[in-house]
Amino acid sequence: MIKLQCKQCAANLQGDNNSQVYFCLKCSLAYNLEKNGLISFPVEYQKPQLDIEGESFYFPFWFFKTSWSTNLEPDNRTFFCWVTAFFIRNINNFGDIGQFYTLRNVQLLPDKKKKFKMTVADRNLNTALRYPEVYLYLKERTHKNFEELKINVLVEEVKMVFVPFFLKNELLYDSQLNCQYPKGALI
Ligand SMILES: [Zn+2]
Repeated sequence: MIKLQCKQCAANLQGDNNSQVYFCLKCSLAYNLEKNGLISFPVEYQKPQLDIEGESFYFPFWFFKTSWSTNLEPDNRTFFCWVTAFFIRNINNFGDIGQFYTLRNVQLLPDKKKKFKMTVADRNLNTALRYPEVYLYLKERTHKNFEELKINVLVEEVKMVFVPFFLKNELLYDSQLNCQYPKGALI
């Protein structure tokens, strides 16, 4: 595997053969692999909202601040969006945790970095950027003129957020909403 280096401190970046995003945890930077090289984004560590015992992991999420409007309501509004930077196997069965976080307004609450195991970020920024629009249409699905609604969305800010998960009895529990996933669906 090619050794990728942090542009700020020259340390080797963390990642594996499946990674689409690499990390320098010393500089708290996430590097998205692009055709023309690596583009960096700031990293935050999310504060757990639930105390769960078990082996601790960080799972990476893209976090977008977006500005959006519709053809019927042209004023710009802000929408925060969480998109997993990892693949969920059997997503139809277990559900999309990025969608749950986004539609249930999980807030970004930065915490100190803890000694948790890091998991792989195998979903790149371009894939993730499709989701703010998808989640906005879901959010607006009860709009009285939904059939005519056209949503415009602009991503204004991109971060990578590590969210603590806890492994107990082969189930991974997230620390924000207490969603449960069989270990094999996530890692
Ligand atoms: Zn660095």
